[in-house]
Amino acid sequence: MPATDNYGLIVTPRMRALLSTEGFLSTDDGGQELRDLYGAQSAGFDPSRLEPFALACFMGVVSKVTEYIQNGTAPPLDGTVTPYKFSYATLVVSGGPRLLEGPRGSGHHVETLAYLLTHGCPPDVEDICRYTALEHACMMPSTNPTLVRTLLAHGAAPNHQNIYGMTAIAGAIMSGFVRAVDVLMEFGADLDISDADGSRFSEMYVSGGPEIAAVVRKWLRLRAGETAPRETRECAACNKTQGSLKQCSRCHSVLYCLSECQKSHWRTHKPSCHAFSADNTVTLTPIYLKNASLLPTASMTRVLTGHQSTAPSAREMLGSNQLGAYPKSVVVKIQVPMGNAPFLIYTKRRDFVCHTARQANPAAYDRVAELVKAKGAGGMGGWKGYFAAELKSADELVVKVSELLADQPF
Ligand SMILES: [Zn+2]
Ligand SMILES: [Zn+2]
Repeated sequence: MPATDNYGLIVTPRMRALLSTEGFLSTDDGGQELRDLYGAQSAGFDPSRLEPFALACFMGVVSKVTEYIQNGTAPPLDGTVTPYKFSYATLVVSGGPRLLEGPRGSGHHVETLAYLLTHGCPPDVEDICRYTALEHACMMPSTNPTLVRTLLAHGAAPNHQNIYGMTAIAGAIMSGFVRAVDVLMEFGADLDISDADGSRFSEMYVSGGPEIAAVVRKWLRLRAGETAPRETRECAACNKTQGSLKQCSRCHSVLYCLSECQKSHWRTHKPSCHAFSADNTVTLTPIYLKNASLLPTASMTRVLTGHQSTAPSAREMLGSNQLGAYPKSVVVKIQVPMGNAPFLIYTKRRDFVCHTARQANPAAYDRVAELVKAKGAGGMGGWKGYFAAELKSADELVVKVSELLADQPF
């Protein structure tokens, strides 16, 4: 292999000029241009032209990597390869997801990465755009999340910033890589770090969707020393997450896998087990509109308050409640819009979707609205909160307002 091989990666003179920027590069000052050039040029990367040791890293061939290091024929592990200056750790995490397209189980990327990191390969070697292996791993949702954890567990800096001022968690949020967001938050990712454009993910993480928002909010609460019921979907006694979990029939706020678990956990759970009662619940009156969630709020308000003649027929009104027998206990998301517009209420499976207007019961409406605005998550055009509830009949939704459940991924 010629020493001049560029492996299909070309750094153009324009790229070189942009890369020589000191500090961070904002989108308008060449950041977008560099992203485009980097993306276009990296499409030609041909890993098969890598030298044997680098190729073994990329392919996750732990036996080869071990052999080279042990017999002293491996290159210096803090070095980089290709004109893009990939570190060996970056090669491993970049090879992981690509190989999923090939024969399964052909690579041992986690083992390879752990071996490198414990034998002198630094976790945070930067490439030309100052990406570390962690940032490469977190922007591809097909990456094995254990690779992300392995990097962090071996000292990768969770808040390292690349040339755009972005951190690994920014990449994970933007690419929808939920498991990476979870691990990064566990290892102290800071959402308040501004990128070169002044954007901070403490304000933008909701844009990643409900699953990411739920994970981020879980960690923000844990860091503040708080927890919320149903923080994770697991048995409160043995932490089992698989299989069918049944909720405590009294409080509806915790889950158990077996009645033995519930019994053994009762002493711990008892002080926080509050049954549905007049004090801690409000009753909302569901209104069922066909395709209601598609209606804009303003026109819906007119329908629900009787100011629009095109009110749905009774038949249509029952269209979005398929829960079956009553009473039925459910976890509902309540969306509270601005002003006094109707709430949108639904279950994860959308087998129950309804609205409720303030008019029907102002006291109940106000109590929920106040609570969700104070403790729920804010987002585009309103707030949302998750509650344990009981549908007593099609017209009576009893919502437990003594506690907001943790953000659920819906
Ligand atoms: Zn259990
Ligand atoms: Zn309970």
